[in-house]
Amino acid sequence: MEQFEIKAYPALWEGLGMEVARFEKSRQMLGEMYRKIYLSQPNRPAGMGYFDALMAEIFGGRIEEMLAVKRAGRPVVGTFCVYIPEEVVVAAGGVCVGLCGGSQGPIPDAEKVLPRNICPMVKSAYGFKAARICPYFQTVDFVYGETTCDAKKKTWELLNRLVPTHVMEIPQMKRERDKALWLAEVRDFKAKVEEVAGAAITAGELGAAIKLINDKRRALQRLARLRGKRPSPISGKDALLIEQIAFYDEPGRFSRKLNELCDELEERVQGGLGAVADSAPRVMLSGTPMALPNWKVHHLLETAGAVVVNEESCIGSRYFKDLIDEGPDRLEAQLTALTERYMQIDCSCFTPNDERVEQVLTEYRQSQAQGILHYSLQFCHTYNIEEIKIREACEREGIPYLAIESDYSPEDTGQLQTRIEAFLEQIREAAC
Ligand code: SF4
Ligand code: SF4
Repeated sequence: MEQFEIKAYPALWEGLGMEVARFEKSRQMLGEMYRKIYLSQPNRPAGMGYFDALMAEIFGGRIEEMLAVKRAGRPVVGTFCVYIPEEVVVAAGGVCVGLCGGSQGPIPDAEKVLPRNICPMVKSAYGFKAARICPYFQTVDFVYGETTCDAKKKTWELLNRLVPTHVMEIPQMKRERDKALWLAEVRDFKAKVEEVAGAAITAGELGAAIKLINDKRRALQRLARLRGKRPSPISGKDALLIEQIAFYDEPGRFSRKLNELCDELEERVQGGLGAVADSAPRVMLSGTPMALPNWKVHHLLETAGAVVVNEESCIGSRYFKDLIDEGPDRLEAQLTALTERYMQIDCSCFTPNDERVEQVLTEYRQSQAQGILHYSLQFCHTYNIEEIKIREACEREGIPYLAIESDYSPEDTGQLQTRIEAFLEQIREAAC
C-alpha cells in the first residue's frame, strides 16, 4: 500500500473544463494526506482494501461511471444535505452525489465572493465550483440545495450563476402543516428529476430505489453496531471514511462491500481483536458533518490514543438511523412514507429539536462510549447554540464532555491537541 496514489485522469479533467494544473496539486496532496493518516494505521481490516481502492479512483473511475449514467440520459444530481431524497434520483436511474466541501484549499477562492465569517463547509463547496477544481461538481447536471441554514440558502443564489441550482424549502418545525409543505417540496423535486430523465418515475422504480438505499443504511447501521463492541474492531478514522464514501459510491456495490467488511469485523469481535487495545478511551462525536477529506479531529483523537466509536452527525448516524417503510406499493403512499422518514432527521435547523438530545444519549449508550466530543464548524449558529443543551444533558448524566468549534485550517491543531489530551485524561480518570 506504500504504492498508493490517487490516480490522475488529466484528459478526463480537461474535458470537464477543470483547472487541471491546480487540481493536479490537490490530487497529490490528498494522496499524501491519505497515506499519512490512513495507511499508517496498524491492524486495519483487510476489507478496507475496497475503500482504499475507491479512494484511488475517486477522481477518475467513479467520475467515468457517473458520466456513463449521464450519457444514458439519466440525471446526475449534486446535493449538500441529507434532506435531499436520493431515492427519487435513484428511481429515475440516476446518481445522487454529495458535494459538501471538507477541504481548506478552495476557501480563498470562495472568499473572493462570499463573506469570510460563514461556515467553512459552504465556502469550501462554493470555492470548488468557482475554481473548477472538483470533478464531481463539473459532472453533475444540476445541484439541489436546501434552506436549512442562512449561509446555505443565500449561497445558492450565487452558486446558481455557476451551475443550475434548485432549492428545496426545508421546514424548520415539525407540525402537520410543515409536513404538508415538505411533501409538496418532495413532489416538486421528483418532477424536476423526471424532467431531466425524460420519463415519469413508476411505483416499481421508487420501491426498488427505497429498498436499495435502505440496504445501504442497514449496512451502515450494522457497522455502527459493530463499533459498539469492546474492543472496537475498526478505527474511527476508517469508519468515518466509509460514512463519507457512502455519499459517492454506487449504492448496491457499497452495501455489498460494507457487508463483507462487517463479516470480517464480526470475526474480529468474536476473536476479541480490536483496532486498538480495549483500554483506549472510547469517544463519541456529535455535531456538524465532517465532509471528505475532513479527518482532522478523528486523527487528533486517535493519534492521542483514543478510539472514535460513533458519529452522531449527518456524515454518521443521522444519515442511516431511519429507514423508509418498504410496505407501500403505490406511488402516493410511497411518497408519504418517504417524507415521514425524512422528517425524522433531527438537524439543529429545527426548533424545537429535543429529540436530538435524546438521540445523542441513546447513541452514547449503544456505542459504549466513555465521553462525548461536540464538534461544531465555525459560524454554524444552530449547532453552536444547540450545543448548550447537549452539554447540559451530559452534565446531568455525568458524561465526560468537550465542545470544540473549528474550521478546516491546521492553525488550531496545537490548541485542539492540548484540549483533546486533557479530555482523554478526564475519561481515563472517570473510568478508574
Ligand atoms: S447538518 Fe442539517 S443542514 Fe447539514 S447536512 Fe445535516 S440535515 Fe443538512
Ligand atoms: S454546518 Fe451549519 S452553517 Fe454549515 S452548512 Fe451545515 S447547518 Fe449550515
